Amino acid sequence: MVVTSNMSVDKYDAVVIGGGIAGLTAAARAAQGGLRVVVLERGTADQYACNSRYSGGILHIAFHNIREPEAALVEVIETATRGKADPQLAKAFAANAARTVDWLCAEGVQFTTVGNIAYQQWVFAPRRPLTPGLDWKDRGADVTMRLLERNITQRGGEVLRGTAANSLIVENGRVVGVDAHRNGTTVRFDARAVLIADGGFQSNLELLRENISSRPSKVMQRGAATGVGDGLRMARQVGAATSELTDFYGHLLSRDAFNNELVWPYPQCDELGVAGIVINARGERFADEGRGGVFVANAIARLDDPLSAVAVFDEQVWQGPGKNARIPANPLLVEAGGTVHSAPTLAALAALIGVPAIKLEKTIAEYNAALAAGTLAELNPARSSKPIPGNAPIPTMPVSKAPYYAVPLCAGITYTLGGIATDAHARVLRESGEPIGGLYAAGSCTGGLEGRSGAHYLGGLIKAAVFGLLAAEHIAELVK
Ligand SMILES: Cc1cc2nc3c(=O)[nH]c(=O)nc-3n(C[C@H](O)[C@H](O)[C@H](O)COP(=O)(O)OP(=O)(O)OC[C@H]3O[C@@H](n4cnc5c(N)ncnc54)[C@H](O)[C@@H]3O)c2cc1C
Repeated sequence: MVVTSNMSVDKYDAVVIGGGIAGLTAAARAAQGGLRVVVLERGTADQYACNSRYSGGILHIAFHNIREPEAALVEVIETATRGKADPQLAKAFAANAARTVDWLCAEGVQFTTVGNIAYQQWVFAPRRPLTPGLDWKDRGADVTMRLLERNITQRGGEVLRGTAANSLIVENGRVVGVDAHRNGTTVRFDARAVLIADGGFQSNLELLRENISSRPSKVMQRGAATGVGDGLRMARQVGAATSELTDFYGHLLSRDAFNNELVWPYPQCDELGVAGIVINARGERFADEGRGGVFVANAIARLDDPLSAVAVFDEQVWQGPGKNARIPANPLLVEAGGTVHSAPTLAALAALIGVPAIKLEKTIAEYNAALAAGTLAELNPARSSKPIPGNAPIPTMPVSKAPYYAVPLCAGITYTLGGIATDAHARVLRESGEPIGGLYAAGSCTGGLEGRSGAHYLGGLIKAAVFGLLAAEHIAELVK
């Protein structure tokens, strides 16, 4: 079934591009339905890197339990995305999340729970330890992926490593296969349907420059760096529409992440900058910190110099939110060798971080006064102080109790929120809204649910699994 170009071939029912959680879920479901399926995966290692493997393994929808009633989840999605999520996608997502987890359980996937934390009731087992740096081998997501792959192959499917999809083959307006690079040659895979699940474009510097940051090399890759936008390119070449591509899911990281692998992807610095403030090289606030770490990370990436932002906070933040995070900066950032400046006065702190003392004192005086007077919304930029639905709650606190702290930040990009336009069956859509025959997309390469400008991270794993499952089920209908 694998042949070099120009030879006649037996068709696969489904070719899946990318072996992350979206692709493996789809392939396992398709193979379960009796379909002949192959996953093309660029990675060569047995446990090839991808965001799914690196993940914390928490299945949640906007920090809510995926088993909340469908209507409640739809409301959460609408509120968190400020009404920007495509309503059909939101409904399909909410309606199928619990069923997808049931299906994963039936596949043999093991889950664990973390106390009574509502959004951590479905965590791939064994849970990732709460330690700094990368730690994914033999953790829940890695174990889950190996299990899904075993199920695929036991049902007659294939996962071909070292195989990079390059272009879609179109005949009479339908996608009928994929050309891929494998062992130095181009190999043609004919199929009744193709699913793109390549994980996004966060690691394509040109696409980042075009859509997200004028200085993409100064945005830290907070993931496996395997999402290079091949799926987006291939889909566009055959006429696919996209959502806006301007936003990403990521976090505030210590700037040391560029040269210290112990300070990413954890601990995150969201709690420090969101409970306190984040300033630029002039000592001024430049974003609404109250909208959360993902929002501020996007704002940092858009700065002329994305390596100029600094979180400024005080002793109460350091001993409070700084310690209470899931994998806390206090003390893990210090233990991992990350930079944490502290000083008894704001003037001394300003000297340590190289911003004008008068400016820093003014910025903090205005912020503290507005917080005390309840006028944060009048600041420029305005500061939200109420919990934002769909965010992990972090309080808004004054910068008033010495010692004062400063942590140089960078924006860590995990995956792009915008991408290929799809419908509730994961079919890829043209600008006209019509599906492109034979073409599907799932996971972080898709937009519309999370990916419109200012929209919101809703949970990458469950999104990938739900739409991978729905794609496989629709392809099974098509094949029948
Ligand atoms: C540190 C970290 C922690 C996270 N924690 C969580 C969490 O707790 N909960 C949560 O919901 N989300 C979390 N996420 C996000 C989540 O991991 C992703 O949203 C999700 O895994 C995306 O799955 P995917 O299948 O779409 O993409 P991926 O897992 O990125 O898989 C895509 C695959 O496609 C392959 N590929 C790319 N291009 C090609 C090509 N041309 N041909 C063939 N193969 C190709 C890649 O090699 C890769 O293996 C986390 C991510 C990171 C990095």
